[in-house]
Amino acid sequence: GSVIGILGGGQLGRMLSMAAARLGYRCHIYDPAPLPPAGHVAQKVVTAPWDDATALQNFAAGVDVITFEFENIPTATLDLLEPLRPIRPGRQALAVSQDRLSEKDFLRELGLPTAPYAPVATAAELDAALAKVGAPAILKTRRLGYDGKGQARLQSADDAAGALAVMQGAEAILEGFVTFSHEVSVIAARGLNGDVAAFDPGENLHRDGILRETRVPARLSPAQRSDAVLIAAKILNALDYVGVLGVELFVTAQGLVVNEIAPRVHNSGHWTQDGCAVDQFEQHIRAVTGLPLGDGGRYADVVMENLIGDDMDRLPELLKARDVALHLYGKPECRAGRKMGHVNHIQRPKG
Ligand code: ATP
Ligand code: MG
Ligand code: MG
Repeated sequence: GSVIGILGGGQLGRMLSMAAARLGYRCHIYDPAPLPPAGHVAQKVVTAPWDDATALQNFAAGVDVITFEFENIPTATLDLLEPLRPIRPGRQALAVSQDRLSEKDFLRELGLPTAPYAPVATAAELDAALAKVGAPAILKTRRLGYDGKGQARLQSADDAAGALAVMQGAEAILEGFVTFSHEVSVIAARGLNGDVAAFDPGENLHRDGILRETRVPARLSPAQRSDAVLIAAKILNALDYVGVLGVELFVTAQGLVVNEIAPRVHNSGHWTQDGCAVDQFEQHIRAVTGLPLGDGGRYADVVMENLIGDDMDRLPELLKARDVALHLYGKPECRAGRKMGHVNHIQRPKG
């Protein structure tokens, strides 16, 4: 087919639309919010709520395949769309990653290492979870958290009541605190025919719960590097996945520990735009349209730096540097904590 429907029109939807355009596809965006960043690029934008059955049916009728740029699409929306057009990646990937508890259960069933965890809905369950998991620990809402939102750290059982208050009554999961030296992520893709391709893992630096920087190459031994890719491949195959997936990992003395998965293109994969012949966005479009996957081999070292809020003031200075590629999202207003764009600092191989 030649029209791709994308649920969500943020910066990820925008960059997917740009990659799709390069491959000769047109994109239709569905987003409840007006003026989505992807609207500059896509052929059509539908602004309607997730529960608008008529708008969803019309949207589906105009596209050949549906994909998404964010994982919190309501189940009822999927129920409506699923019989109408193929959704890639599929239902299971969304179900698993929408709920941190089912995500952890899924990873454990695959035999992958995660932080120790326990479900928490009440004060009594939090006490039991602390006894099981130990302190320090992190309490996280099971659903809808991102950029470190909906999380509370507990140094000891004394912090229990305060942490529970942060959940505002939402179901939560308690995770034991993982002692890690650094964080990495693997961006990997699986094609319609089951082929798997992975990008070189990136090393991620967070500040205030938000990703600031991704560097390639990551500090990993050859064994850790192949472990990271094997973990991603195992997840992709288990989910019969089609598209690009991000896997966040902690690097510990005992090996790699899986933090979370994102069933979509991922902020920590933006370096691929300027470090690879085929970037994560093109790779995703190739996968969901049934094209062969591209070669994600890396031909430069890259530091991807997010431009968040008033980082934008540094633009003139950043642009003076050589080998800096700028990617702005065209968001109508700049706010604190809002991702406005990113730059890729490219370190070309010498010689
Ligand atoms: P994202 O924006 O990546 O979706 P999120 O809100 O889903 O973030 P997590 O990735 O679960 O949150 O956690 C944010 C950060 O907090 C992690 O990148 C890591 O630095 C730290 N963190 C999370 N869980 C743990 C843990 N169990 N042990 C130690 N650190 C943790
Ligand atoms: Mg997350
Ligand atoms: Mg995360």
